[in-house]
Amino acid sequence: MSQASSPAGAPALLHPLPSYLQADKLGPWGNYLQQVDRVIPHLGSLARWAETLKRPKRILIVDVPIHMDDGTVAHFEGYRVQHNVSRGPGKGGVRFHQDVTLSEVMALSAWMSIKNAAVNVPYGGAKGGIRVDPKKLSRGELERMTRRYTSEIGIIIGPNKDIPAPDVNTNEQIMAWMMDTYSMNTGSTSTGVVTGKPVDLGGSLGRREATGRGVFTVGAEAAKHIDLDIATARVAVQGFGNVGGVAGKLFAEAGARIVAVQDHGGTIYREAGLDVPSLLRHVAATGSVAGFAQAEVIADDKFWDVDCEILIPAALEQQITRDNAGRIKARMIIEGANGPTTPEADDILQERNVLVLPDVIANAGGVTVSYFEWVQDFSSFFWDEAEINARLVRIMKEAFAGVWQVSQDHKVSLRTATFIVACKRILHTRELRGLYP
Ligand code: NAD
Repeated sequence: MSQASSPAGAPALLHPLPSYLQADKLGPWGNYLQQVDRVIPHLGSLARWAETLKRPKRILIVDVPIHMDDGTVAHFEGYRVQHNVSRGPGKGGVRFHQDVTLSEVMALSAWMSIKNAAVNVPYGGAKGGIRVDPKKLSRGELERMTRRYTSEIGIIIGPNKDIPAPDVNTNEQIMAWMMDTYSMNTGSTSTGVVTGKPVDLGGSLGRREATGRGVFTVGAEAAKHIDLDIATARVAVQGFGNVGGVAGKLFAEAGARIVAVQDHGGTIYREAGLDVPSLLRHVAATGSVAGFAQAEVIADDKFWDVDCEILIPAALEQQITRDNAGRIKARMIIEGANGPTTPEADDILQERNVLVLPDVIANAGGVTVSYFEWVQDFSSFFWDEAEINARLVRIMKEAFAGVWQVSQDHKVSLRTATFIVACKRILHTRELRGLYP
């Protein structure tokens, strides 16, 4: 795993990359590596440390066996990856999904390193997941799986080491089980080991809405730069869970029309704008936007052709690809999801003058309020929601303004600009800390 630097500063490998880093060039990890390559020419002398961004610091793969309700024993594969901890403890969500792979978790952990540095919270990047369709588990099975997984990764997580949080298909209840399991194993209540907990268990007000609020805040700031009026904009949202649901609600409250929503159950459309509060109630009751009466159903693939000014991918990665990027009508894409746009699609969108607000800044609101939660847990002193939202909005606006300026100065996309800001911060701390031993 060692490397040396050539006199010109370009890294020269002394040993080939481990096999798990070579695999899946077209997957999320491959996309992340391409994003890093685009930023290296802008890093100046810090480029000599850039190889560190291409190798996760620590990867843990765990077997998660549980008793099923029918008496059998099932085994699930779980992961926790700490990509970089130069700036502070690892931080990043836990995903329960049938398509979770090591490559995906590696990419998500790396994007967390970039995101946390972009908004300048004192964390490195980490991510975890279990390859499982949680919708097929009973509540008891889900709890047993969560607790066993937490025990298995317990050797590398902790309030000062690595702090998990919710992601796709994980929520406050799962965070409460993780917190309790870790606390039982260590012998004292340790609320700061996870964020996104219920408010009654040391969670923070405003955390549930924070990612969607950040998506809205950054979107509204960017709209000013391209003379886009939010109050008259049409918005299409993919994924109507924690991120997409809240972002959709805030855009609708600002006057925008939410014309199309897609989730795992199907795609719905209403030219006059969907009634978002009713749709949120429908999703809470049924689990999907499918079957919502006050809308027409359109084919899933037609989602990408919908007439709109703003598109918010807020589901999974690799949704906007070279196959559909040319069809998108939006003037602005706000990435609520992590990694929804492939590098080829990024290039097509840039050529077509579609402004892409990248995940690594656009969805950083969640981790920002997670940071507030962690700080509040350490001091056992809790802030009111108005203070939390005001601090969140201030951090998001300042971070976005900085990234916008870098994109203008370097004449690069907002994604590359965010990577420039973040990678410089990460590699500067890397250099200050030096190599051990
Ligand atoms: P969630 O589980 O609350 O919602 C996920 C949504 O995606 C659901 O509406 C689901 O139906 C939809 N979906 C799943 N598969 C789909 C498919 N194939 N096609 C269309 N829609 C599909 O998850 P979330 O927390 O809202 O996370 C969504 C995205 O935002 C993920 O990429 C996640 O990594 C990212 N993110 C979440 C947070 C957070 O705080 N929750 C923070 C930053 C980034």
